Amino acid sequence: MSSDCLFCNIVERSVPATIVHETGSVLAFRDINPQAPTHVLVIPKAHHADAASMAASDPALAGEVLDIAGTVAAADGIDAAGYRLVFNTGKDGQQTVLHAHCHVLGGRGMEWPPG
Ligand code: AMP
Ligand code: ZN
Repeated sequence: MSSDCLFCNIVERSVPATIVHETGSVLAFRDINPQAPTHVLVIPKAHHADAASMAASDPALAGEVLDIAGTVAAADGIDAAGYRLVFNTGKDGQQTVLHAHCHVLGGRGMEWPPG
């Protein structure tokens, strides 16, 4: 846990968020600047800088993040139509918060290439 990390602070409830799902090790909350009708961030409660480092150090936790992403999609009713999971990583990936997070985007048709 890092007090400098925005998402650690959301886990600690010192920064508010609209939480949609929580387990012992994972938290899901709505993105503050949604890019689609459903835009939820699924994060490990433990601090990991990005998805790959999370998977390398705790593969079960990475699996749980993906599992909860599916749970969130189903809860928002977008699982049948489909949705997109995104882990922006590093500078070229335009990762702005250096705490691993899975974007769950849906409720509209996505485009490809993503830009
Ligand atoms: P990324 O650019 O992949 O690192 O994604 C970071 C995401 O966090 C962006 O989509 C932001 O809109 C979102 N975000 C930033 N601050 C907050 C916050 N306080 N609560 C919820 N989402 C946030
Ligand atoms: Zn963190």
